[in-house]
Amino acid sequence: MKTDIDRAVIEAVSSGAYIMGGPVQELERQLAVYTRVRHCITCASGTDALRLALKAWGVRQGDAVFVPDFTFFATAEAVSSEGATPVFVDVDCETFNIDPADLENKIETTVQKGVLIPKVIIAVDLFGLPADYAAVRRIADNYGLLVLEDGAQGFGGCANGKRSCSFGDISTTSFFPAKPLGCYGDGGACFTDNDEWAELMDSYRMHGKGSSKYENVRIGMNSRLDTIQASILKVKLKAFDEELAAVNQAAAHYNARLADIVATPVVPAGFLSSRAQYTIRLNSKTERDALQSELRSQGIPSMIYYPIPMHRQGAYRSLDTVVSQCPVASKLCDTVLSLPIHPYITSEEIERVCDAIKGFMQELTNHA
Ligand SMILES: *Cc1c(COP(=O)(O)O)cnc(C)c1O
Repeated sequence: MKTDIDRAVIEAVSSGAYIMGGPVQELERQLAVYTRVRHCITCASGTDALRLALKAWGVRQGDAVFVPDFTFFATAEAVSSEGATPVFVDVDCETFNIDPADLENKIETTVQKGVLIPKVIIAVDLFGLPADYAAVRRIADNYGLLVLEDGAQGFGGCANGKRSCSFGDISTTSFFPAKPLGCYGDGGACFTDNDEWAELMDSYRMHGKGSSKYENVRIGMNSRLDTIQASILKVKLKAFDEELAAVNQAAAHYNARLADIVATPVVPAGFLSSRAQYTIRLNSKTERDALQSELRSQGIPSMIYYPIPMHRQGAYRSLDTVVSQCPVASKLCDTVLSLPIHPYITSEEIERVCDAIKGFMQELTNHA
């Protein structure tokens, strides 16, 4: 895509419309069509996108927002930035996504305590797999809560024919370079079918503008997507479905080679993952850490997404720890390992990673 991307960048720079230029609106229209959602409002990052959604709903101090305990810090941080309190919910050990049973538990406990007012459930499409929105929606309706889909890693995923970033009352994504649809810097977007919320988020991203730029009717943020980034994303969006197929093919190759020796990622029937990460589970922290060093010694990069559950983050040490018990998330932090994956990884590279893992597991059995 280099030729097209270079041309798009030069055009954006020559146009002089660096902020909110034509390509930003064009990209928003294309993303709305792609996700089949009425409105797309781009912004400066996936973190800001979450904050814009919470602002549109008037979420504030005294409100409880239910957040999976196993996610990137920004999911919870956005809640705290708006003055509300995150209540951490455990996740499913196979899909890594919010556990509906524990979600109901945590909502009940919060209601009984009577200190915070339950307002929003944030479900994360972790590692690219859409959360169980059928279950989340049932619970949300039951308690009168709003659903915010954090699709930062989920763009391109599907569940039962519906695309990621269309499951929430508002959904958000990130264009950080390492995400499924990445730009060449920071960027993000909000999606909603609701006209009023769309208008509010459009206002909040530009200093709470009213009907004109210098009429300000609320306290907002400065959070816009650069024209250069939008121009790059427009080019990358054209190749996105091809990349999605390629990255899923890479995952299938890993699955075929690894399914017998480690716990490979689970994609339930009817779901498609955007494969932001390919994350395996080992039996223990010792085993996981030893495998990571073995891979490192063979020059194979791997990452631990994520080493610390939200409820044990230093920033949240003052939160109620009884409410935030999440044993599955804690265990996952000790046992997961994400392997190299992207649409352009070769079969040879995948074979090399699998050989290294196979060799390591063989050694383990020999010593057992
Ligand atoms: C990356 C990420 C974010 C934040 O996106 P930024 O664009 O980096 O601000 C939020 N939630 C999840 C789950 C993420 O992976």
